Amino acid sequence: MESNSQHVLMLPFMARGHLIPFLELAKQIRRRTGFIITILNTAANIQFLRSQLLGSGVDEAAGGVRLVELPFCASDHGLPPNVESTRGLSLPQMIDLFYASTELEAPLRRFILEEIIAKEGRPPLCIIADLFFGWAFDLAKNLRSVGVTFCTGGAYGMAAYVSLWKDIPQRHSNDGEFTLPGFPKNHRFHISQLHKFLRAADGTDSWSRFFQPQFSKTVNSSGWLLNTVEEIEPLGMSIIRNYVRLPVWPVGPLLPPFMLSPPPASDPHDRKDRCVTWLDSQPHDSVLYISFGSQNTITLTQMMELAMGLEESGKPFIWVIRPPFGFDLEGEFREEWLPIGFESRLSETEKGMVVKKWAPQMEILSHRSTGAFLSHCGWNSVLESLSQGVPLVGWPLAGEQAYNSKMLAEEMGVSVELTRGLEGNVTKENVKKIVELVLNREGKGGEMKKKAVEVGKHLRAAVKEDEFEKGSSLRAMDDFVDTILSSVSHQ
Ligand code: UDP
Repeated sequence: MESNSQHVLMLPFMARGHLIPFLELAKQIRRRTGFIITILNTAANIQFLRSQLLGSGVDEAAGGVRLVELPFCASDHGLPPNVESTRGLSLPQMIDLFYASTELEAPLRRFILEEIIAKEGRPPLCIIADLFFGWAFDLAKNLRSVGVTFCTGGAYGMAAYVSLWKDIPQRHSNDGEFTLPGFPKNHRFHISQLHKFLRAADGTDSWSRFFQPQFSKTVNSSGWLLNTVEEIEPLGMSIIRNYVRLPVWPVGPLLPPFMLSPPPASDPHDRKDRCVTWLDSQPHDSVLYISFGSQNTITLTQMMELAMGLEESGKPFIWVIRPPFGFDLEGEFREEWLPIGFESRLSETEKGMVVKKWAPQMEILSHRSTGAFLSHCGWNSVLESLSQGVPLVGWPLAGEQAYNSKMLAEEMGVSVELTRGLEGNVTKENVKKIVELVLNREGKGGEMKKKAVEVGKHLRAAVKEDEFEKGSSLRAMDDFVDTILSSVSHQ
Protein backbone atom coordinates (compact mmCIF):
# COMPACT_ATOMS: atom_id res chain seq x y z
CA MET A 1 0.00 0.00 0.00
CA GLU A 2 1.23 3.45 -0.94
CA SER A 3 2.63 5.56 1.87
CA ASN A 4 2.06 9.29 1.63
CA SER A 5 1.09 12.26 3.69
CA GLN A 6 -2.67 12.04 3.19
CA HIS A 7 -4.48 12.95 6.36
CA VAL A 8 -7.32 10.93 7.90
CA LEU A 9 -9.34 12.35 10.81
CA MET A 10 -11.15 10.06 13.21
CA LEU A 11 -13.99 11.06 15.48
CA PRO A 12 -15.20 8.45 17.98
CA PHE A 13 -18.26 8.91 20.18
CA MET A 14 -17.37 9.60 23.83
CA ALA A 15 -17.69 6.11 25.33
CA ARG A 16 -14.98 3.55 25.99
CA GLY A 17 -16.71 0.88 23.89
CA HIS A 18 -16.27 3.27 20.93
CA LEU A 19 -12.88 4.78 21.80
CA ILE A 20 -11.15 1.37 22.07
CA PRO A 21 -12.02 0.02 18.59
CA PHE A 22 -11.48 3.47 17.01
CA LEU A 23 -7.96 3.47 18.40
CA GLU A 24 -7.31 -0.02 17.05
CA LEU A 25 -8.63 1.03 13.63
CA ALA A 26 -6.38 4.11 13.71
CA LYS A 27 -3.32 1.95 14.47
CA GLN A 28 -4.12 -0.43 11.65
CA ILE A 29 -4.70 2.27 9.05
CA ARG A 30 -1.49 3.97 10.14
CA ARG A 31 0.54 0.75 9.93
CA ARG A 32 -0.89 -0.27 6.56
CA THR A 33 -0.88 3.07 4.77
CA GLY A 34 1.46 5.52 6.45
CA PHE A 35 -1.34 8.12 6.31
CA ILE A 36 -1.28 10.81 8.98
CA ILE A 37 -4.00 9.79 11.43
CA THR A 38 -5.49 12.23 13.91
CA ILE A 39 -8.08 11.20 16.49
CA LEU A 40 -10.05 14.08 17.98
CA ASN A 41 -12.04 14.02 21.19
CA THR A 42 -12.59 15.71 24.54
CA ALA A 43 -9.62 16.11 26.91
CA ALA A 44 -10.36 13.20 29.27
CA ASN A 45 -10.99 10.80 26.42
CA ILE A 46 -7.78 11.87 24.70
CA GLN A 47 -5.96 11.19 27.95
CA PHE A 48 -7.49 7.68 28.06
CA LEU A 49 -6.49 7.07 24.41
CA ARG A 50 -2.96 8.32 25.11
CA SER A 51 -2.57 5.80 27.94
CA GLN A 52 -3.80 3.00 25.66
CA LEU A 53 -1.53 4.03 22.80
CA LEU A 54 1.66 4.10 24.84
CA GLY A 55 4.15 1.45 23.84
CA SER A 56 2.08 0.28 20.84
CA GLY A 57 4.80 1.26 18.36
CA VAL A 58 2.50 3.83 16.76
CA ASP A 59 2.23 6.25 19.67
CA GLU A 60 2.71 9.98 19.27
CA ALA A 61 6.33 9.91 20.42
CA ALA A 62 7.09 7.38 17.67
CA GLY A 63 5.45 9.66 15.07
CA GLY A 64 2.33 7.50 14.94
CA VAL A 65 -1.32 8.27 15.62
CA ARG A 66 -1.91 11.87 16.68
CA LEU A 67 -4.34 12.79 19.43
CA VAL A 68 -6.02 16.18 19.55
CA GLU A 69 -8.25 17.65 22.24
CA LEU A 70 -11.42 19.44 21.20
CA PRO A 71 -12.78 22.02 23.65
CA PHE A 72 -15.94 20.79 25.33
CA CYS A 73 -17.74 22.25 28.28
CA ALA A 74 -20.36 19.91 29.74
CA SER A 75 -21.88 22.53 32.03
CA ASP A 76 -22.90 24.55 28.96
CA HIS A 77 -25.28 21.66 28.26
CA GLY A 78 -26.75 21.24 31.73
CA LEU A 79 -24.37 18.38 32.60
CA PRO A 80 -22.02 18.17 35.60
CA PRO A 81 -18.87 20.12 34.64
CA ASN A 82 -16.43 17.18 34.43
CA VAL A 83 -18.59 14.93 32.23
CA GLU A 84 -16.89 14.01 28.96
CA SER A 85 -18.11 10.48 28.35
CA THR A 86 -21.13 8.25 28.98
CA ARG A 87 -19.49 6.55 31.97
CA GLY A 88 -21.67 6.68 35.05
CA LEU A 89 -24.39 8.84 33.48
CA SER A 90 -28.10 8.42 34.10
CA LEU A 91 -30.34 8.00 31.04
CA PRO A 92 -31.48 11.67 31.00
CA GLN A 93 -27.85 12.78 31.31
CA MET A 94 -26.88 10.42 28.53
CA ILE A 95 -29.32 11.97 26.08
CA ASP A 96 -28.02 15.41 27.14
CA LEU A 97 -24.53 14.19 26.26
CA PHE A 98 -25.70 12.96 22.86
CA TYR A 99 -27.09 16.40 22.05
CA ALA A 100 -24.05 18.12 23.54
CA SER A 101 -21.75 16.02 21.33
CA THR A 102 -23.10 17.76 18.21
CA GLU A 103 -21.43 20.92 19.52
CA LEU A 104 -18.08 19.37 18.64
CA GLU A 105 -18.81 20.38 15.06
CA ALA A 106 -17.59 23.99 15.49
CA PRO A 107 -14.17 23.19 17.04
CA LEU A 108 -13.70 20.35 14.56
CA ARG A 109 -14.38 22.69 11.63
CA ARG A 110 -11.96 25.23 13.10
CA PHE A 111 -9.28 22.55 13.50
CA ILE A 112 -9.67 21.45 9.90
CA LEU A 113 -9.54 25.00 8.54
CA GLU A 114 -6.69 26.27 10.71
CA GLU A 115 -4.56 23.20 11.28
CA ILE A 116 -5.07 21.15 8.15
CA ILE A 117 -6.23 23.23 5.19
CA ALA A 118 -4.13 26.28 6.16
CA LYS A 119 -0.99 24.23 6.87
CA GLU A 120 -1.25 21.31 4.46
CA GLY A 121 -2.96 23.14 1.63
CA ARG A 122 -5.77 20.61 1.25
CA PRO A 123 -8.61 19.11 3.29
CA PRO A 124 -8.21 15.77 5.02
CA LEU A 125 -8.59 12.86 2.63
CA CYS A 126 -11.20 11.26 4.83
CA ILE A 127 -13.19 11.86 8.01
CA ILE A 128 -14.07 8.60 9.73
CA ALA A 129 -16.87 9.41 12.16
CA ASP A 130 -18.86 7.41 14.63
CA LEU A 131 -22.32 6.17 13.68
CA PHE A 132 -23.68 8.59 16.32
CA PHE A 133 -22.02 11.57 14.58
CA GLY A 134 -24.08 11.81 11.40
CA TRP A 135 -23.48 15.59 11.44
CA ALA A 136 -19.81 15.00 10.62
CA PHE A 137 -20.74 13.79 7.11
CA ASP A 138 -22.30 17.16 6.23
CA LEU A 139 -19.05 18.78 7.32
CA ALA A 140 -16.98 16.29 5.31
CA LYS A 141 -19.03 16.99 2.17
CA ASN A 142 -18.76 20.70 2.73
CA LEU A 143 -14.96 20.53 2.98
CA ARG A 144 -14.58 18.02 0.11
CA SER A 145 -13.37 15.17 2.31
CA VAL A 146 -14.69 11.63 2.05
CA GLY A 147 -17.02 10.94 4.98
CA VAL A 148 -17.00 7.33 6.17
CA THR A 149 -19.03 5.86 9.03
CA PHE A 150 -17.28 3.58 11.49
CA CYS A 151 -19.76 1.38 13.21
CA THR A 152 -18.12 -0.21 16.24
CA GLY A 153 -20.78 -2.95 16.46
CA GLY A 154 -21.40 -6.16 14.56
CA ALA A 155 -23.43 -6.44 11.35
CA TYR A 156 -26.55 -8.24 12.60
CA GLY A 157 -26.93 -6.23 15.81
CA MET A 158 -26.31 -2.87 14.17
CA ALA A 159 -28.63 -3.60 11.24
CA ALA A 160 -31.41 -4.26 13.75
CA TYR A 161 -30.58 -1.25 15.91
CA VAL A 162 -30.23 1.29 13.11
CA SER A 163 -33.37 0.08 11.39
CA LEU A 164 -35.35 0.31 14.65
CA TRP A 165 -34.44 3.96 15.12
CA LYS A 166 -34.73 4.97 11.51
CA ASP A 167 -38.05 3.25 10.93
CA ILE A 168 -39.94 4.27 14.07
CA PRO A 169 -42.64 3.37 15.05
CA GLN A 170 -42.02 -0.33 15.48
CA ARG A 171 -45.25 -2.28 15.26
CA HIS A 172 -45.58 -5.28 17.50
CA SER A 173 -48.32 -7.83 17.44
CA ASN A 174 -50.46 -8.89 20.43
CA ASP A 175 -47.91 -11.44 21.53
CA GLY A 176 -45.23 -8.73 21.73
CA GLU A 177 -43.35 -10.07 18.72
CA PHE A 178 -42.27 -8.18 15.60
CA THR A 179 -40.09 -8.59 12.53
CA LEU A 180 -37.66 -6.12 11.05
CA PRO A 181 -37.29 -5.01 7.42
CA GLY A 182 -34.59 -6.96 5.61
CA PHE A 183 -34.43 -9.74 8.23
CA PRO A 184 -35.66 -13.25 7.39
CA LYS A 185 -39.35 -13.57 8.28
CA ASN A 186 -38.62 -16.31 10.82
CA HIS A 187 -36.36 -13.94 12.79
CA ARG A 188 -38.92 -12.86 15.34
CA PHE A 189 -37.95 -10.10 17.76
CA HIS A 190 -39.68 -9.50 21.07
CA ILE A 191 -40.68 -6.30 22.80
CA SER A 192 -38.40 -7.32 25.70
CA GLN A 193 -35.52 -6.84 23.26
CA LEU A 194 -36.36 -3.14 22.96
CA HIS A 195 -34.78 -0.86 25.49
CA LYS A 196 -37.48 1.05 27.37
CA PHE A 197 -36.82 4.32 25.55
CA LEU A 198 -37.11 2.50 22.21
CA ARG A 199 -40.42 1.03 23.36
CA ALA A 200 -41.75 4.52 24.03
CA ALA A 201 -40.17 6.14 20.97
CA ASP A 202 -42.68 7.65 18.54
CA GLY A 203 -40.43 9.92 16.54
CA THR A 204 -41.15 13.02 18.65
CA ASP A 205 -39.33 12.03 21.86
CA SER A 206 -35.82 13.33 22.56
CA TRP A 207 -34.07 10.00 21.79
CA SER A 208 -35.74 9.69 18.38
CA ARG A 209 -35.09 13.32 17.57
CA PHE A 210 -31.40 12.67 18.11
CA PHE A 211 -30.98 9.23 16.53
CA GLN A 212 -33.22 9.50 13.47
CA PRO A 213 -31.33 12.36 11.79
CA GLN A 214 -27.91 11.03 12.82
CA PHE A 215 -28.62 7.58 11.41
CA SER A 216 -30.19 8.99 8.25
CA LYS A 217 -27.01 10.98 7.62
CA THR A 218 -24.71 8.00 8.13
CA VAL A 219 -26.65 6.16 5.46
CA ASN A 220 -25.62 9.05 3.17
CA SER A 221 -21.92 8.76 4.01
CA SER A 222 -19.55 7.22 1.45
CA GLY A 223 -19.42 3.83 3.13
CA TRP A 224 -19.43 1.91 6.39
CA LEU A 225 -16.50 0.34 8.16
CA LEU A 226 -17.62 -2.41 10.52
CA ASN A 227 -15.76 -4.13 13.33
CA THR A 228 -16.70 -7.61 12.18
CA VAL A 229 -15.57 -10.38 9.85
CA GLU A 230 -17.35 -11.43 6.66
CA GLU A 231 -17.09 -15.17 7.46
CA ILE A 232 -18.58 -15.03 10.96
CA GLU A 233 -21.64 -12.94 10.08
CA PRO A 234 -22.74 -13.89 6.56
CA LEU A 235 -26.41 -13.16 7.29
CA GLY A 236 -25.73 -9.90 9.15
CA MET A 237 -23.45 -8.69 6.35
CA SER A 238 -26.03 -9.37 3.68
CA ILE A 239 -28.77 -7.62 5.70
CA ILE A 240 -26.66 -4.55 6.34
CA ARG A 241 -25.48 -4.28 2.72
CA ASN A 242 -29.08 -4.38 1.52
CA TYR A 243 -30.07 -1.90 4.15
CA VAL A 244 -27.46 0.85 3.68
CA ARG A 245 -26.82 0.27 -0.04
CA LEU A 246 -23.28 1.61 0.34
CA PRO A 247 -19.88 -0.06 0.30
CA VAL A 248 -19.57 -1.91 3.63
CA TRP A 249 -16.09 -2.95 4.71
CA PRO A 250 -15.87 -5.54 7.50
CA VAL A 251 -12.36 -4.86 8.84
CA GLY A 252 -12.52 -6.61 12.21
CA PRO A 253 -11.66 -7.92 14.62
CA LEU A 254 -10.07 -4.67 15.77
CA LEU A 255 -8.11 -6.13 18.64
CA PRO A 256 -4.53 -5.67 19.83
CA PRO A 257 -2.06 -8.14 18.25
CA PHE A 258 -1.63 -10.26 21.41
CA MET A 259 -5.32 -11.26 21.15
CA LEU A 260 -4.86 -12.50 17.60
CA SER A 261 -1.58 -14.39 17.65
CA PRO A 262 -1.89 -18.19 17.86
CA PRO A 263 -3.18 -19.35 21.26
CA PRO A 264 -0.15 -19.35 23.54
CA ALA A 265 1.09 -22.59 25.08
CA SER A 266 1.92 -20.72 28.25
CA ASP A 267 0.79 -17.51 29.87
CA PRO A 268 2.02 -14.61 27.71
CA HIS A 269 1.53 -11.86 30.27
CA ASP A 270 4.62 -10.44 31.85
CA ARG A 271 2.73 -7.63 33.64
CA LYS A 272 0.95 -9.77 36.25
CA ASP A 273 -2.27 -8.25 37.40
CA ARG A 274 -3.83 -9.79 40.53
CA CYS A 275 -6.58 -11.34 38.37
CA VAL A 276 -3.98 -12.99 36.16
CA THR A 277 -2.07 -14.31 39.18
CA TRP A 278 -5.30 -15.76 40.57
CA LEU A 279 -6.16 -17.28 37.18
CA ASP A 280 -2.72 -18.95 37.14
CA SER A 281 -3.81 -20.97 40.17
CA GLN A 282 -7.05 -22.22 38.57
CA PRO A 283 -7.58 -25.28 36.37
CA HIS A 284 -7.53 -24.91 32.60
CA ASP A 285 -10.87 -23.83 31.02
CA SER A 286 -12.64 -23.66 34.38
CA VAL A 287 -13.33 -20.01 35.30
CA LEU A 288 -16.43 -17.93 34.54
CA TYR A 289 -15.63 -14.27 33.85
CA ILE A 290 -18.50 -11.82 34.47
CA SER A 291 -18.64 -8.24 33.24
CA PHE A 292 -21.33 -5.90 31.95
CA GLY A 293 -18.98 -3.68 29.96
CA SER A 294 -17.74 -0.19 30.53
CA GLN A 295 -20.99 1.48 31.56
CA ASN A 296 -23.83 -0.89 32.40
CA THR A 297 -24.83 -2.46 35.65
CA ILE A 298 -27.69 -4.61 36.99
CA THR A 299 -30.25 -4.10 39.76
CA LEU A 300 -29.66 -4.83 43.41
CA THR A 301 -32.08 -7.80 43.38
CA GLN A 302 -30.39 -9.25 40.28
CA MET A 303 -26.97 -8.76 41.89
CA MET A 304 -28.01 -10.72 44.98
CA GLU A 305 -29.41 -13.62 42.93
CA LEU A 306 -26.33 -13.69 40.71
CA ALA A 307 -24.04 -13.78 43.76
CA MET A 308 -26.02 -16.62 45.39
CA GLY A 309 -26.21 -18.62 42.15
CA LEU A 310 -22.48 -18.28 41.60
CA GLU A 311 -21.73 -19.40 45.12
CA GLU A 312 -24.08 -22.37 44.87
CA SER A 313 -22.58 -23.47 41.54
CA GLY A 314 -19.22 -23.86 43.27
CA LYS A 315 -17.50 -22.84 40.01
CA PRO A 316 -14.57 -20.42 40.10
CA PHE A 317 -15.31 -16.92 38.80
CA ILE A 318 -14.04 -13.35 38.37
CA TRP A 319 -16.80 -10.77 38.61
CA VAL A 320 -16.28 -7.13 37.67
CA ILE A 321 -18.75 -5.49 39.94
CA ARG A 322 -20.21 -1.97 39.96
CA PRO A 323 -22.77 -0.29 42.19
CA PRO A 324 -26.25 -1.50 41.26
CA PHE A 325 -28.66 0.43 39.07
CA GLY A 326 -29.97 3.58 40.71
CA PHE A 327 -26.77 4.25 42.71
CA ASP A 328 -23.78 6.39 41.75
CA LEU A 329 -21.88 4.11 39.37
CA GLU A 330 -18.63 5.87 40.05
CA GLY A 331 -19.19 5.75 43.83
CA GLU A 332 -17.75 3.31 46.36
CA PHE A 333 -19.12 -0.22 46.46
CA ARG A 334 -21.09 -1.11 49.62
CA GLU A 335 -20.83 -4.50 51.28
CA GLU A 336 -24.61 -4.71 51.81
CA TRP A 337 -25.17 -4.97 48.06
CA LEU A 338 -23.91 -8.57 48.25
CA PRO A 339 -25.11 -11.49 50.43
CA ILE A 340 -23.76 -11.31 54.01
CA GLY A 341 -20.19 -12.59 54.20
CA PHE A 342 -19.94 -13.13 50.42
CA GLU A 343 -16.57 -11.44 49.93
CA SER A 344 -14.96 -12.91 53.03
CA ARG A 345 -16.08 -16.42 52.06
CA LEU A 346 -14.51 -15.85 48.66
CA SER A 347 -11.19 -14.85 50.12
CA GLU A 348 -11.23 -17.85 52.45
CA THR A 349 -12.16 -20.43 49.82
CA GLU A 350 -10.37 -18.68 46.93
CA LYS A 351 -13.29 -19.85 44.80
CA GLY A 352 -13.80 -16.49 43.20
CA MET A 353 -12.69 -12.91 42.82
CA VAL A 354 -14.63 -9.70 42.85
CA VAL A 355 -13.03 -6.78 41.02
CA LYS A 356 -14.41 -3.32 41.66
CA LYS A 357 -15.19 -1.19 38.58
CA TRP A 358 -12.54 -2.16 36.00
CA ALA A 359 -10.59 -5.34 35.20
CA PRO A 360 -7.97 -6.15 32.56
CA GLN A 361 -10.59 -7.89 30.44
CA MET A 362 -8.43 -8.90 27.50
CA GLU A 363 -5.78 -10.44 29.76
CA ILE A 364 -8.50 -12.37 31.59
CA LEU A 365 -10.18 -13.63 28.42
CA SER A 366 -6.88 -14.68 26.87
CA HIS A 367 -5.89 -16.68 29.96
CA ARG A 368 -6.07 -20.46 29.56
CA SER A 369 -8.07 -20.85 32.81
CA THR A 370 -11.00 -18.75 31.52
CA GLY A 371 -13.76 -21.08 30.35
CA ALA A 372 -16.79 -18.85 29.74
CA PHE A 373 -17.91 -15.22 29.81
CA LEU A 374 -21.19 -13.96 31.29
CA SER A 375 -21.50 -10.77 29.28
CA HIS A 376 -23.87 -7.95 28.40
CA CYS A 377 -22.95 -8.80 24.77
CA GLY A 378 -21.34 -5.45 23.97
CA TRP A 379 -19.67 -6.08 20.65
CA ASN A 380 -16.08 -5.52 21.83
CA SER A 381 -16.62 -8.03 24.61
CA VAL A 382 -18.08 -10.50 22.11
CA LEU A 383 -15.08 -10.25 19.78
CA GLU A 384 -12.61 -10.38 22.64
CA SER A 385 -14.26 -13.54 23.96
CA LEU A 386 -14.64 -15.33 20.64
CA SER A 387 -11.10 -14.47 19.53
CA GLN A 388 -10.02 -16.63 22.48
CA GLY A 389 -12.55 -19.37 21.73
CA VAL A 390 -14.47 -18.55 24.94
CA PRO A 391 -18.26 -19.24 24.80
CA LEU A 392 -20.70 -16.77 26.33
CA VAL A 393 -23.71 -16.47 28.57
CA GLY A 394 -25.76 -13.50 27.37
CA TRP A 395 -27.37 -10.87 29.57
CA PRO A 396 -28.01 -7.97 27.19
CA LEU A 397 -28.74 -4.62 28.84
CA ALA A 398 -28.78 -1.76 26.32
CA GLY A 399 -28.12 -0.56 22.78
CA GLU A 400 -27.95 -3.35 20.20
CA GLN A 401 -26.86 -5.96 22.78
CA ALA A 402 -30.14 -7.92 22.67
CA TYR A 403 -29.72 -8.45 18.92
CA ASN A 404 -26.09 -9.48 19.37
CA SER A 405 -27.23 -11.94 22.02
CA LYS A 406 -29.91 -13.37 19.71
CA MET A 407 -27.45 -13.79 16.85
CA LEU A 408 -24.80 -15.39 19.09
CA ALA A 409 -27.29 -17.92 20.45
CA GLU A 410 -29.41 -18.65 17.37
CA GLU A 411 -27.04 -18.10 14.44
CA MET A 412 -23.58 -18.85 15.79
CA GLY A 413 -24.47 -21.24 18.59
CA VAL A 414 -21.73 -19.86 20.88
CA SER A 415 -23.94 -18.42 23.61
CA VAL A 416 -26.96 -19.05 25.73
CA GLU A 417 -29.07 -16.21 27.12
CA LEU A 418 -29.58 -16.03 30.90
CA THR A 419 -31.93 -13.07 30.92
CA ARG A 420 -32.48 -9.61 29.40
CA GLY A 421 -32.33 -6.10 30.76
CA LEU A 422 -32.95 -4.68 34.19
CA GLU A 423 -36.46 -6.11 34.24
CA GLY A 424 -35.24 -9.62 33.46
CA ASN A 425 -36.05 -12.27 36.01
CA VAL A 426 -32.90 -13.84 37.50
CA THR A 427 -32.99 -16.56 40.12
CA LYS A 428 -30.04 -18.19 41.85
CA GLU A 429 -31.29 -21.57 40.56
CA ASN A 430 -31.18 -20.34 36.98
CA VAL A 431 -27.74 -18.84 37.43
CA LYS A 432 -26.41 -22.10 38.89
CA LYS A 433 -27.94 -24.15 36.07
CA ILE A 434 -26.58 -21.98 33.28
CA VAL A 435 -23.11 -21.61 34.82
CA GLU A 436 -22.87 -25.40 35.11
CA LEU A 437 -24.08 -25.82 31.53
CA VAL A 438 -21.63 -23.40 29.93
CA LEU A 439 -18.59 -24.70 31.82
CA ASN A 440 -19.40 -28.36 31.26
CA ARG A 441 -17.55 -29.68 28.20
CA GLU A 442 -20.08 -32.48 27.68
CA GLY A 443 -23.38 -31.66 25.92
CA LYS A 444 -24.37 -28.09 25.03
CA GLY A 445 -21.43 -26.43 26.83
CA GLY A 446 -19.02 -28.58 24.80
CA GLU A 447 -20.82 -27.72 21.53
CA MET A 448 -20.69 -24.02 22.33
CA LYS A 449 -17.00 -24.26 23.14
CA LYS A 450 -16.26 -26.04 19.82
CA LYS A 451 -18.18 -23.41 17.86
CA ALA A 452 -16.48 -20.56 19.73
CA VAL A 453 -13.08 -22.04 18.85
CA GLU A 454 -14.17 -22.24 15.18
CA VAL A 455 -15.29 -18.60 15.18
CA GLY A 456 -11.98 -17.69 16.84
CA LYS A 457 -10.13 -19.33 13.92
CA HIS A 458 -12.11 -17.25 11.41
CA LEU A 459 -11.31 -14.10 13.36
CA ARG A 460 -7.60 -14.84 13.22
CA ALA A 461 -7.68 -15.87 9.57
CA ALA A 462 -9.39 -12.61 8.59
CA VAL A 463 -6.37 -10.57 9.65
CA LYS A 464 -3.68 -13.00 8.53
CA GLU A 465 -1.38 -12.26 5.67
CA ASP A 466 1.40 -14.32 4.15
CA GLU A 467 2.94 -14.70 0.72
CA PHE A 468 0.04 -16.91 -0.45
CA GLU A 469 -3.06 -15.31 0.95
CA LYS A 470 -4.55 -12.30 2.63
CA GLY A 471 -7.44 -12.51 5.10
CA SER A 472 -10.87 -11.08 4.22
CA SER A 473 -10.62 -8.13 6.64
CA LEU A 474 -7.27 -7.07 5.20
CA ARG A 475 -8.73 -7.24 1.70
CA ALA A 476 -11.66 -5.12 2.90
CA MET A 477 -9.21 -2.63 4.40
CA ASP A 478 -7.33 -2.42 1.07
CA ASP A 479 -10.59 -1.83 -0.76
CA PHE A 480 -11.55 0.93 1.69
CA VAL A 481 -8.18 2.64 1.19
CA ASP A 482 -8.37 2.33 -2.62
CA THR A 483 -11.89 3.77 -2.56
CA ILE A 484 -10.98 6.86 -0.54
CA LEU A 485 -7.81 7.43 -2.58
CA SER A 486 -9.71 7.15 -5.85
CA SER A 487 -12.04 9.91 -4.67
CA VAL A 488 -9.03 12.27 -4.72
CA SER A 489 -8.22 11.46 -8.32
CA HIS A 490 -11.86 12.20 -9.26
CA GLN A 491 -11.89 15.65 -7.65
N1 UDP B 1 -13.46 -3.34 29.59
C1 UDP B 1 -12.35 -3.63 30.33
N2 UDP B 1 -12.50 -3.82 31.68
C2 UDP B 1 -13.70 -3.76 32.29
C3 UDP B 1 -14.85 -3.49 31.51
C4 UDP B 1 -14.70 -3.29 30.16
O1 UDP B 1 -11.22 -3.70 29.82
O2 UDP B 1 -13.76 -3.96 33.50
C5 UDP B 1 -13.30 -3.09 28.13
C6 UDP B 1 -13.61 -4.35 27.33
O3 UDP B 1 -12.45 -5.16 27.21
C7 UDP B 1 -14.11 -3.78 26.02
C8 UDP B 1 -14.77 -2.46 26.43
O4 UDP B 1 -14.24 -2.12 27.70
O5 UDP B 1 -13.01 -3.50 25.15
C9 UDP B 1 -16.27 -2.59 26.54
O6 UDP B 1 -16.83 -2.56 25.27
P1 UDP B 1 -18.15 -3.35 24.92
O7 UDP B 1 -18.45 -3.08 23.48
O8 UDP B 1 -18.02 -4.76 25.28
O9 UDP B 1 -19.26 -2.74 25.86
P2 UDP B 1 -19.72 -1.25 26.23
O10 UDP B 1 -18.86 -0.81 27.33
O11 UDP B 1 -19.56 -0.41 24.97
O12 UDP B 1 -21.14 -1.42 26.63
